Amino acid sequence: MESGAGSRDPGIPIPDSRLPIPDAFQRPLGSLRLSVTDRCNMRCGYCMPEEHYVWLPRESLLSFEELDRLAGIFHRLGVRKVRLTGGEPLLRHGLPRLIGMLARRDLVDLALTTNGILLGDHAAALRDAGLRRITVSLDTLRPDRMRAFARTDRHGEVLRGIAAARSAGFRSIKLNSVIVRGFNDDEVADLLAFAGAGDLELRYIEYMDVGGATRWRREDVVTRAELLDTIRRRFGAPEPVPDPGNPHAPAERFRLPDGTRFGIIASVTAPFCGSCDRSRVTADGTWFTCLYAERGVDLREPLRMGADDETIATLIEATWTARSDRGAEDRLRMLERGVLYQVEGLRQDPHREMHTRGG
Ligand code: SAM
Ligand code: SF4
Ligand code: SF4
Repeated sequence: MESGAGSRDPGIPIPDSRLPIPDAFQRPLGSLRLSVTDRCNMRCGYCMPEEHYVWLPRESLLSFEELDRLAGIFHRLGVRKVRLTGGEPLLRHGLPRLIGMLARRDLVDLALTTNGILLGDHAAALRDAGLRRITVSLDTLRPDRMRAFARTDRHGEVLRGIAAARSAGFRSIKLNSVIVRGFNDDEVADLLAFAGAGDLELRYIEYMDVGGATRWRREDVVTRAELLDTIRRRFGAPEPVPDPGNPHAPAERFRLPDGTRFGIIASVTAPFCGSCDRSRVTADGTWFTCLYAERGVDLREPLRMGADDETIATLIEATWTARSDRGAEDRLRMLERGVLYQVEGLRQDPHREMHTRGG
């Protein structure tokens, strides 16, 4: 099934002493988000608010063997953290097989981000295949709100999915909540109470002006400062939890007086580009060195044209070494800040979409 991918790796002459590979700002090539599909069974208002989308051609999607081979090449170049994402990754048929292939690699961290709708069906198989960390996106505790904002009435399935993950033995389950003014800003404290009661670590994410967020407005971003203020009023003062072992983590972590932990990913008001070690591969094998990058590097073409691992590794290494992206910081400096792409621009190139890049 995946023996061919594993057997190619020793050909890559990247001695460990040269790792990690630094970019132009000395940021290491450390973590990778692998998107397994651009399709989704939700339509979150901050990600997919339009009626129609242009999808990646099916024949362009990488097979599990191709994804695993790429993961192997990135691994040899120093990547130790891999997160599977999408679109909705659980829509990819047979995903546990890919997890099994990746779990055999010597990764520090193999994780999955999902909207949770299909988690109830797959949690046990994912865990059996070797997955240990799951993040579920949950923005509201109210089914009616989810119906209006994300166009799905499957809120109950998300909650059942979280419970199924717990029953399947997942100990580290995180929740992601994007807070948007006028949608769920009155649920900031309730979401944290819900997470604390279920022993889930909640991470608030500031609403970002990424590709796909065609309704984004600066005034709809609920900032880190506002979040902390709301939390302080309901639960008492949160204290920062330093995480020196994890210098590239995007979330700033806090602890409430009762011990509940949570995080804030302040991508808009306090971007963390300076320590960003992450890149992303779309389901068709296009590699982006920044969430905001205009263009990606086509890795599918060399994969399918018979390039050996060393050739692909050289391409990745050369690209990373030259990387100078600081997309969120660049956006922060803009005086007039509106949507990143209009709908027509997204239709011209669906790689610009957040649901294609994987968040
Ligand atoms: N479909 C899966 C999910 O929603 O968890 C995985 C893919 S989704 C693109 C990954 C993450 O990106 C989700 O947690 C989602 O909330 C987040 N996201 C999408 N659009 C965003 C935006 N405009 N601002 C901030 N986060 C966003
Ligand atoms: Fe929502 Fe994730 Fe689907 Fe985007 S990809 S619409 S964030 S569930
Ligand atoms: Fe990294 Fe780009 Fe995000 Fe900055 S904007 S944290 S460089 S992916």
